[in-house]
Amino acid sequence: MANTISILGSTGSIGRQTLDVAEQMGLRLAALTAHSSVERMEAQCRRFQPELAVMTDEDAAKDLSVRLADTGTKVLGGFAALTEAATHPAADTVVTAVVGMVGLKPTLAAIREKKRIALANKETLVCAGELVMDAADAAGAEIVPVDSEHSAIFQCIQGCADRREIKRLILTCSGGPFYGMTYEEAGKMTRADALRHPNWSMGPKITVDCATLMNKGLEVIEAMRLYRLPLSQVDVMIHRQSIVHSLVEYRDGAVLAQLGTPDMHLPIRYAMTYPKRGENPAPPLDLLHCPPLTFAKPDRESFPCLRLAEEAAGAGGTACAVLNGANEEAVKLFLAEKIGFQDIPRLVAKARMEIPVVQSPSLEEILEADRAARACVLR
Ligand code: NDP
Ligand code: MG
Repeated sequence: MANTISILGSTGSIGRQTLDVAEQMGLRLAALTAHSSVERMEAQCRRFQPELAVMTDEDAAKDLSVRLADTGTKVLGGFAALTEAATHPAADTVVTAVVGMVGLKPTLAAIREKKRIALANKETLVCAGELVMDAADAAGAEIVPVDSEHSAIFQCIQGCADRREIKRLILTCSGGPFYGMTYEEAGKMTRADALRHPNWSMGPKITVDCATLMNKGLEVIEAMRLYRLPLSQVDVMIHRQSIVHSLVEYRDGAVLAQLGTPDMHLPIRYAMTYPKRGENPAPPLDLLHCPPLTFAKPDRESFPCLRLAEEAAGAGGTACAVLNGANEEAVKLFLAEKIGFQDIPRLVAKARMEIPVVQSPSLEEILEADRAARACVLR
């Protein structure tokens, strides 16, 4: 059970919802971090009075330290300071809610300090899942997933002492805003179209990932790493209503699922209270008024990112870091309206083709694969 937390990425969608939960639960804040959203960070610091506030953008940090001069919050700037926030001695739990691979080093540092990791930042597990999980095992640090599908699975495996009893995980997927379109139809969709997600309100990068189905691909890899299962035991099912958050099929045929309204406060809250459960002020799921629950196969032809992610998962080594790095850069280009929707899988596939896979990589080899993938997309 969390008592004092640090939030990496407190100004984002997950970060802000974590602060709601912290306020409801009366948690203390050790450190908050953001990239450049100074005004939002100033307001958060005034309200939650963390001991440390970090802006990874140095100019934003200077601005924040002037704004917070009358408070007791210490302000630091730059990427190295993310690690200071992640290892702040007052925190027992670190919520990793930054977007992208930038979360990797601070997450590893927090693990070494035996913090509980409430993990939202899936890119970290995608790039370096084996290193992260091994580090957590070695340090005895708990990793509790915040991602709704992985939280659902985590909840469905409580009490399962032997992972060999699990036959497969079934990750549900809303299908995103372009569900049902052909490859060509989806290719005409713009940034504005992609940012209109049917069920969830999230940061721009993950919203685009939901439209391409790369998000589900990243989640397949995230699940493989968290639960140490092979690709053959992780399936994806389209479930448009986002009520069943994921399922676990056991060897005896029992299928356990976690249901709820599409609201990230619940998995965030569970990551704070685990292994207990607390009161939640949100209205509960109303089964009598929820739409019929439907399930369908994902379309890997119209949305090749899911297939590309599964192929990278199968290739292992640095392949997932290449996939992720290329995707991060391609999504940035799409959000800047410099490339089209289907250029995202095209550029990811190009990076995967051009960059050789290194097996059993070190952290440095993973970081190098990430750099190479980004350079390949930008070439
Ligand atoms: P947002 O874009 O809303 O927020 C990102 C946060 O990270 C902000 O605080 C932002 O600061 C900070 N940030 C952005 N870039 C950098 C950088 N280069 N260095 C340091 N900090 C940075 O993202 P989300 O909250 O949507 O997602 C966060 C993570 O959680 C992602 O990995 C996502 O996949 C995962 N996730 C999100 C879900 C959701 O519902 N949103 C659901 C499941 C998982 P600033 O505001 O200053 O830019
Ligand atoms: Mg998810």
